[in-house]
Amino acid sequence: MNILLFGPPGAGKGTQSALLVDKLKMKHLSTGDILRAAMRNGTTLGLEAKSYMNDGKLVPDSLVIGMVDEELGEIGSQSFILDGFPRTVPQADALENLLKNRKTSIGRAIFLEVPKDQLLDRLTGRRVCKGCGATFHVGFKPPQKQGICDICGAEVIQREDDKESVIRTRLEAYEASTKPLQEYYQEKGILQVVDGLGSADEVFARIQKWLA
Ligand code: AMP
Repeated sequence: MNILLFGPPGAGKGTQSALLVDKLKMKHLSTGDILRAAMRNGTTLGLEAKSYMNDGKLVPDSLVIGMVDEELGEIGSQSFILDGFPRTVPQADALENLLKNRKTSIGRAIFLEVPKDQLLDRLTGRRVCKGCGATFHVGFKPPQKQGICDICGAEVIQREDDKESVIRTRLEAYEASTKPLQEYYQEKGILQVVDGLGSADEVFARIQKWLA
């Protein structure tokens, strides 16, 4: 079964996707990760996406949809987790068509619910590893050695778009464009709202209940 994880920035989509990938051996398709890699590599896509991402705005649908189309081609017939896509109703409609053409579909759309005040705290304190992408938090989960990843030893940094002024724009983009997807997937009968508060393992246990 293919799964879609969505929710506000800081809800834990990346963390939960990593746990799901590990447990269920599914493919992970994160549009944020792909865009960040494109930026690092200085590709045309990365250059086009950069100003939107650094300002906390959504990258235009046409760019993101084309990118997902390509990635789905590479994934082939394996099951996958979509993390951070779709983020708008036009993206959700486009996804339906892309999957229909590939004779597959989304089995569950899991919405990770976290109150807004908690999101700010999670995002401003979040730090990520430049090497393996592992996430840390200055308060709840600091790396053992400051600034160094526990897993791969690379540098741990703050994402440009986790700075407070940018976070506000990201939350606004979420409210205006992504939140309506709850109703979209409710109407399709595949929405599952999961409480995103608590430890990563606690949230993961809740998600697994719905996938059993
Ligand atoms: P994320 O890592 O999912 O928080 O995404 C980081 C940034 O990448 C977002 O703030 C957007 O600028 C961009 N982005 C990621 N996924 C999408 C998407 N599906 N549609 C538009 N922009 C996206």
